Amino acid sequence: MPSIPILMYHQVGPTPPRHSSYRGLTIHPKSFARQMWVMHQLGYRGLSMRDVLPYVRREKVGKVFGITFDDGFRNVFQNALPVLLKYNFTSTNYLVANLFSQTNSWDKDRGVPRAELMSITEMRAWAQAGQEIGSHTLDHVHLPELSLAEAREQLVGSRQKLVEALGADVTAFCYPYGDFNVALQRLTQEAGYTNATTTKRGLAKMTDDVFAIPRVGIWRSTPLLRFLYQCLSQHENLRRA
Ligand SMILES: [Zn+2]
Repeated sequence: MPSIPILMYHQVGPTPPRHSSYRGLTIHPKSFARQMWVMHQLGYRGLSMRDVLPYVRREKVGKVFGITFDDGFRNVFQNALPVLLKYNFTSTNYLVANLFSQTNSWDKDRGVPRAELMSITEMRAWAQAGQEIGSHTLDHVHLPELSLAEAREQLVGSRQKLVEALGADVTAFCYPYGDFNVALQRLTQEAGYTNATTTKRGLAKMTDDVFAIPRVGIWRSTPLLRFLYQCLSQHENLRRA
C-alpha cells in the first residue's frame, strides 16, 4: 500500500529561550530551508492538502509529500513562504479564524512564548502565492469538550469567516490539539470541508478516513537524516506494493 508523508510544522523562526515550553514547535529557518532543499534535490515536490490528496487517493502518481503548518504563525509567512516559492512547493496553513493579527493566546497557560499570527493581508498574500488556507476553528478550542452545537459553530463559523476574507473556498481542516472523534469527523464533513488532519502519527494512505489523516511531526530537534528517513520511507512502501 503506497503511502505519503504529510509533514506537520508549527513555527519557523529563531530558537525560543532555553527554558520555554514546547521549544520543539519552532523550527529554525535554516533547518526548514535545508529540509526543503534536500527534498527538492531528490526530485520530490512539496504539496498542500488540496494538491497532495489526489496522490494519496492514487489518482495521480509522483514523488510528492504534503506540507502543513498549524495555527497560522506570522513567522511561517515570513520565513517559510520564500523557501516554498523558491522550489515551487505548495503547502497548507491552518488559521484560527478569530485571531487574525493576534497571538497564540491558547498556548499561554502551557508556557509557550507569545508569537504573532498572520493578518488578513498576509493570509491573502499567502493564498495569492499559490498556498492553501485551511481552518483550525474560530478560537483554537478542544472540540470534544464542546456541545455539538458549539463544535458546529466552530467548524461552520471559521470556514465562513475564512471564505469571506479570502474570496475563495476553504476545504481543509485541522483539529486543534489533535482532538477529534467520530461525531466530529461527521460534523467536519457536514460543515463543507473535504479533509481533516490530526496529530496521529503516520503516513497518509488511500484507506485512511479523509477526516482523520495522520501526519509526520517535524520538530526543532529532528535531525536531517531522521527527516529524510521519515519522508522517504514511502519508497519502501512503493517497492513492496
Ligand atoms: Zn494548533
